[in-house]
Order: sequence, then structure tokens, then C-alpha cells
Amino acid sequence: MEVPKEIFLKDYKEPDYFFDAVDLKFSLGEDKTIVCSKITVSPRVEGVSCPLSLDGPDLKLLSIKVNGTELKKEDFHLDSRHLTLLSPPAGVFSLEIVTEISPQNNTSLEGLYKSSGNFCTQCEAEGFRRITFYQDRPDVMAKYTCQIEADKTLYPVLLSNGNLIEEGDLEGGRHYALWEDPFKKPSYLFALVAGQLVSRDDTFVTCSGRKVSLKIWTPAQDLPKTAHAMDSLKAAMKWDEEVFGLEYDLDLFNIVAVPDFNMGAMENKSLNIFNSKLVLASPETATDADYAAILGIIGHEYFHNWTGNRVTCRNWFQLSLKEGLTVFRDQDAGPMAHPVRPHSYIKGAEVVRMYKTLLGQSGFRKGMDLYFKRHDGQAVTCEDFFAAMRDANDADFANFLLWYSQAGTPCVKVTSSYNPEACTFSLKFSQDVPPTPGQPVKEPMFIPVAVGLLDSNGKDMPLTSVYHEGLLQAVTSNGQPVSTTVLQVTKKEEEFVFSDVSERPIPSILRGYSAPIRLDSDLTDDDLFFLLANDCDEFNRWESGQVLARKLMLNLVSDFQQDKPLVLNPKFVDGVKRTLCGSTLDKEFIAKVIFLPGEGEIMDMMRVADPDAVHAVHSFVRKELALQLKNDFLSTVKNNSSSEEYLFNHHNMARRALKNLALAYLALLEEPEITELALQEYNTATNMTDQFAAVAAIAQKPSKVRDDILSDFYKKWEHDFLVVNKWFSLQAMSDIPGNVENVKNLLKHPAFDMCNPNKVYALIGGFCGSPVSFHAKDGSGYKFLGEIVLQLDKINPQVASRMVSAFSRWRRYDETRQALAKAQLEMIMSADGLSENVFEIASKSLAS
Ligand code: ZN
Repeated sequence: MEVPKEIFLKDYKEPDYFFDAVDLKFSLGEDKTIVCSKITVSPRVEGVSCPLSLDGPDLKLLSIKVNGTELKKEDFHLDSRHLTLLSPPAGVFSLEIVTEISPQNNTSLEGLYKSSGNFCTQCEAEGFRRITFYQDRPDVMAKYTCQIEADKTLYPVLLSNGNLIEEGDLEGGRHYALWEDPFKKPSYLFALVAGQLVSRDDTFVTCSGRKVSLKIWTPAQDLPKTAHAMDSLKAAMKWDEEVFGLEYDLDLFNIVAVPDFNMGAMENKSLNIFNSKLVLASPETATDADYAAILGIIGHEYFHNWTGNRVTCRNWFQLSLKEGLTVFRDQDAGPMAHPVRPHSYIKGAEVVRMYKTLLGQSGFRKGMDLYFKRHDGQAVTCEDFFAAMRDANDADFANFLLWYSQAGTPCVKVTSSYNPEACTFSLKFSQDVPPTPGQPVKEPMFIPVAVGLLDSNGKDMPLTSVYHEGLLQAVTSNGQPVSTTVLQVTKKEEEFVFSDVSERPIPSILRGYSAPIRLDSDLTDDDLFFLLANDCDEFNRWESGQVLARKLMLNLVSDFQQDKPLVLNPKFVDGVKRTLCGSTLDKEFIAKVIFLPGEGEIMDMMRVADPDAVHAVHSFVRKELALQLKNDFLSTVKNNSSSEEYLFNHHNMARRALKNLALAYLALLEEPEITELALQEYNTATNMTDQFAAVAAIAQKPSKVRDDILSDFYKKWEHDFLVVNKWFSLQAMSDIPGNVENVKNLLKHPAFDMCNPNKVYALIGGFCGSPVSFHAKDGSGYKFLGEIVLQLDKINPQVASRMVSAFSRWRRYDETRQALAKAQLEMIMSADGLSENVFEIASKSLAS
């Protein structure tokens, strides 16, 4: 959430009318669908009548009644976006509206639409208004019933939120189901599904002994692939009970998988709708990454039941109230939780994690308990969450709220010094938040910095006390020294001095990524190598390697730009070798350390991003490592290959990740013996993780073997659309020269479909993910994207706007590229009938 507090506080207005009960009736049809809504409306201030404005873009209104009487033309106003009742009754009244919609023609996948012949909905953020006229805002919470009528043969399964109250047959081969949701909810959590689906059924007994029926719905042929999703759901339900005491609140929980979906999944009350790719998995068709994503997202949507649904957002400026907290919860949950995380994590989740860092697990739990006690059934703000955390712990959080209102990532500089006479070690912090549009001057933030000090043997030194602002503060726990302490940095400049430090330490700063900041420390390369080898904090041990790799690549980029020969620092090669051969290290950790920072990360650190130089250097470093460590990589592949049955657990995932990364390095050598090895891995693979990794390794370089293996892989999997998407994205992301032409050809491939978001993300999104292809100096990548965005915008504005955001950082590049990208943005802006979604992103990018 990057919106200044002043603006959203000032702009927020309570609705003039509350909706208490909403009874919906859908008559689903092939040519048209009729939606009747009956709403009990009450004015916020009894006796005061003012116009009631309902959202409804381009909706066909059939009738409107107030208290049973059809409204006259002069009693309401209808335009292309709103229906306004000019003088509604001053007390509680009933409002009945009938609209006609065409889900079969709805390619935007917002509101009610069809996916593979089945009806489904997506209402967050503003899809409900495409179904019926409504005050479509999250602070309008109502109890819903939903009656669905449809042809019984075409749509045997009829689902909505809550409990099934009644079902039965109707004339003309039709049937109906009536659903009732006992919980008040905002319209964005409404859902409806109708179609030919079958379910995997299971049960979960809650901590209070209630038996909940669990159902995962898919087309019949996909049912075998839902076992992992069901395990994931039960694990999530158990975790939320154990960690937060949060129990599921209905007797039924449904998940439906649909192939056409704009995002990953949606937490509609008791009827989660998922993109198929985040439900369906089998060892043969899904990779370890897919299995992990399913586990994570099933948890995420389930956790929303409390953080998002029972307590929701007052308006969309408060999105991170539910998303930040729920992402934090899914990151924290279950076997996938891991301290090593990429940098660009959702800031909202990192902000929530700071509360836990500051308050500890039990203090955080107290805050959560108070939050639910105060706000169950309400639509609230990030300040309310903050207040609950603070009040439950009597905490002084100084300027912590700035994390919500001040945009931009704080840059924190740290300088260290050791005084051997006094046995003190000082850390001086200075923080700076860069100006952002509309916020030229920033206040210092409240930054928890977890610190440990390593002695010359690499062991944590015992920490006892810290001088800060003239006071000596004990940092012990139960009277005992600690190995990590959390410094609270709150000022522009601030010093902390550790006492009783018997030798010059190597500081391990920002352990566990304790705050979402950019850290710039005065550690030397030797210090970083030392931390990489010794730090007990896994995040910092990994991060030290990343800092070293980024520094090294930046220096090489500068050599490349000056036409100097590229030479890889032998110390770096040695560090990678020692990590690779470190027998005591966790294999997932090894794989993460030797996976170099991406080209985008390096470009982020440059004043003018140079994709060609960065690509050349990135390729050089990887190939050089492959050359110099060939034998180590070969034995890594050999020692970690296995023809055993696929198991999704940490040990096996880590083993596969390390083996497949070693194979990718080796394949850069383009040697016949390595090609043989990769082909053997491909042919003997027992699962998609290994099979796909072998294809990807070979596909890095153009060759006949590449063409052959790609076409073999397609033939094997052409019947499975999720695997075919992997095949699209592998080719789209490729760095091979002239790849834009390949991607253009793939657009014409019979398996490609511009109406399916997953395919667009795989092919177009994949292409934009390769800096060297997308940012090609001749502008071919930009031109390709510009044209595609306009085509896509006619079909699906949300997907088009996601794609156009690839242009958003155009000013980071050289003048030639800037001019080319800007021309495309201007071309997009000048198009007729541009959607609001694309307009918003394109105009913001141009103005940036
Ligand atoms: Zn979410």
C-alpha cells in the first residue's frame, strides 16, 4: 500500500446507505442470464434521504422496484457507469433490481463468465458491479442468499457461498439450488459456480470437534490430480488452529479449479475459486515449484477466511491489511517456511513480520487475538491492526505507522568500528528514504535491525549490553546473554555500541531480513566470504553470497563497458566451490547460494541499466563457473540423481534442485558428453521436475538437439494444457538471439489462445522476463509488446494492464531505449477505446 495516509483518510466517506440482506436469483442461460437482486436497504442516518448511487458499468437494466413498486423514469438516473435513485425512502426499504448479462461473451473474466463451458465468477475488486447494480465497495457488508437456476444436464453442479438450503428440479430440464451464507460479507467475496464438475471429498474435524466437509471440484478427467491440494487444505486448517487458534466457521468448504482465471486464486467465502494451475498436480505433470505453490496458495486462500473475510478492508487503499497479513501467514506456515527469501517480497507481509520480530511469537499472537476480538465482522484499516498490536502489548512503536503511509524502500547505511581498549564495538546507522512522486520529503522510519556478532572462529559472541543515547541497556534474555539482538533504529542517524566485546567481531546485520530495507554496510569482501562460510543465520549467510555476486558482476559490467577483458575473481570461484562441496550444508541452501542474482537485480543497481552488458556478464560468469567447476557439477548431478518414486518433501526437493541447477550450469558448456547426460536425465526422469529441468538445460543454447527435445516434449504432453504452458514459457523466456520471431510464431501455434490468461502469462509475460530479448536495442521487443497490449486490451483489460507494466521502468534505460519504449507507450495511449486498466498503468509510466 503506497498511498499517503492524508489522502485516504481525507477521501474516505462512510456509505450513506447500508445493505443488510441481499437475496440473489440467477437464471443461467446460453444466450442471456437474468439476475434478480432484492436488497434490504437502510439509510446510515435514519430519516435522512439522499441519492443512492449504485455501480454497474454497461449493465442492461430490466426493472427496478422500491418497496414492491416499479420506479418511474424520473425517479432514477441511469448512465454508462451508475444507476442512481434520486430520492429513496428515508427509512428501511426493499430494493429489487433485474438485470440481463451475457457471461458467454465476457472475455474480461471479471464478474460472471464462462470458462471451458462452466459458469464462474471473479468479483475482487470490482467484478460484482458487472453482475448487478450494487454499492460495490468492501465496507458494505451484507448477508446473502443465492438461488441458481440452470439446465440440469449442462450444469449439474450449482454452487455459491455458505450452506446449501434447498435444491430441486424445475420444468424444461432445469434445476435449482438455494444457498445461504450466514456471515455478513462484502460483495467482492460473492461467488457462483455452475457446471459439469466432480469433487474429491474429504473431512476435517476442527479443534472444537465439528466435522467439516471438504470438496475440491474439477472436470472429471482432472480429479486424480487433486490429492495434493486436499492434503494442503487440511494442513492449512490444522496450522491455523494450532498457531492462531482460528477455527473454520462453516460445515462446508469448497474449492473449484477453473482453467481461465486472471489471477492465482480467490478467497470467496467457503467457495474458493482457483486457477487450475494452482490446484492440479501429479508427479508426472507438476514440478516441485508447482507443488510448493499449490501448498502455499491453498493455505493463503484458506487463511483469508479470518484475515480478509471475517475482518475485511474498509476500502481498497487498505488492501495490504488483508493481503500483507495473509501472505505473511502463508509464508510462515507449514513445511515450506524458510528464512531464505527473495528480495522483492510483498512489502505488506514484511511489515507484518516486523511486528512479530518486535513482539515475539507470543506478543504477536496477543495482538492477533485482540484484533479479532475488536474487529470480527467489520471492515477496518491498517491503523486498526497497528493499534491492536500496540495495545495488546503496551508497546511503544514510535513512528511505525510510516511503513503504511510512506512510499519507497529505506536505504540504511551502516559503519562499524571496534575499540580494543574499551572492548566496545560500534554500529552507526544512517537512514534515507528516497523521494517518490507526491512525497518529496520523508521522515525517518522505525526499523528493527536484528544483529549478531561473530568471533574469529565464526561463532556467535554472547551479547550482554548496548549503549544507546547515553544509556546502557541490557540485551539479555532471562539474565542470560543472547546471540542475536534487535536494535530499534528510529532516527536519521543513530549509534549503538556493544560492550564487553573481547575481539574485533564480524557483524551479521539484518539477520532474517528483519526489515524490508536496502542495507549498505561497510563489510569487506573478506567479511562477506567469512559470513557466507560461517553465519548461523541462514538468511545472512545466503545474502552475503548474493552481495558478493552482485558486487562482482557490477564490476565486470563496468569492465565490459570499457572493452576490458572479463576475468572471474578466483576467490569467488573458490567460494562457490566450497559451498557446492560443503558436505554439511542443506542442499536447498547450496542451490540457492550458487544460483546467481538475476540480470534484473544487477540492472537495478546501475545508474543507467545496460541489459546487453549485464547479459554478457551474467552469461560469462555462469559459463566460467561451469568450466572451472565442471567436475564438481558433474559429481553433483551423479550423486543427486535418483530413479526412485517422486516424493514431495524437503529432502527430495532440495536434492532435485541442486542436481538440476548443476545440470543447467554444465549444459552451458555445449559439450557432447553433457548433452548425452542431459538426454539421459530427460529419458529416465520419473517426474516433471527432472524431465523439465533436462529440457530447460538443453534449451539454453540453439541447436538441433534443442529443436528435437522441444518437439518431443510437446508431443508427449500436447493433451495437458498446464504442461504445454511450461513449454510455451520455456521458449518465451529464452535468451537465444532473435527470440522475438520465435515468440511471434508461437502466437500462431494451435495450442495458444489469447483469451486464456495462463497462456498469455506464459508466452508474453515469459518474453518480457528476458531482459536481453525484451530490451533489444532495435526496439523489436517493445514494438512486439505494444502491439500485443492493444490486441489483448480488447479481450481482457486486466491481463493487458499486467503486460503493459513491463514498460513501467522505461526511464531506467539509455536514451535510445527510452525513446523506443516511450513511443510504444504513447502509441498505446492514443488508441481508441483503451480500457481504464491499461490507461492507468500506461499513463502512470509515462508520467513517472
Ligand atoms: Zn490474498
